[in-house]
Amino acid sequence: MATAIITGASQGIGACIAKRLAKDGFDVVINHYPSDSDKEKALAVAEECRAFGVKAEYYSADVSKFADCENMVKQVKADFGTIDALVNNAGITKDSLLARMTEEAYDTVIAVNQKSVYNMMKNVCSVMMKQKHGSIVNVSSVAGLYGNAGQVNYSASKSAIIGMTKSVAKEYGRKNIRCNAVAPGLIRTPMTDVLSDDLKAKMLEAVALRRYGEPEEIASVVSFLVSENSSYITGQVIEISGGLSM
Ligand code: NAD
Repeated sequence: MATAIITGASQGIGACIAKRLAKDGFDVVINHYPSDSDKEKALAVAEECRAFGVKAEYYSADVSKFADCENMVKQVKADFGTIDALVNNAGITKDSLLARMTEEAYDTVIAVNQKSVYNMMKNVCSVMMKQKHGSIVNVSSVAGLYGNAGQVNYSASKSAIIGMTKSVAKEYGRKNIRCNAVAPGLIRTPMTDVLSDDLKAKMLEAVALRRYGEPEEIASVVSFLVSENSSYITGQVIEISGGLSM
């Protein structure tokens, strides 16, 4: 049985990806932020995944910390035997215009959204290299492609992920490890629930399909990218935004 790790999978897009990959037949590793509420939610996600007849366990790790990722990957390897897919999904926003953006807001977003991807890929790639196969999907954002006012920190982190994706694809292609990114647009999750109605309406005006994306519409593309159906695709960024920019 193939194993997939999904970071930040206690809710939103990550939880949806975990359930979709479980449905596809993957054993799933549900990473959650080390808090009681995230643990509770991860436990519920694991139960939903197990309903598909696969193994599903939840692991606490702050993915912005290298040691947490190192320990989690070691434990997953011991518990599951292989790591066939990695989805770097964990992410946060701390939005404000640059003039008001604190250094703390900048550094925290970079640590959680960008450094975490280094932390996870560094540890998982050494496992995948020995296996001589693997597929990685990094969750970027349209903010990383086009920028967004109020998101200098977030768009920096999401652009960086794209560069990291292409570099890892080039480094590890000969080892049969693929690395791609998805760039979601406006997706209905707890992250976007907090935006004001005015802002949401304004953002939707730029979307050709004139509606939000659903987490399932991200999960289906991730499902494709970790499957053999995409066996000749690496180093690519797939925008999933309902036609935000064409
Ligand atoms: P969300 O807030 O619902 O979920 C984010 C998850 O990441 C949560 O489970 C949270 O606990 C986890 N997380 C945060 N910090 C963590 C840490 N240090 N260690 C481990 N886990 C941590 O948000 P979402 O909308 O589901 O976002 C998922 C990903 O998709 C993020 O990377 C986000 O940037 C990206 N994205 C979302 C949208 C959107 O419109 N919702 C658009 C583009 C990109």
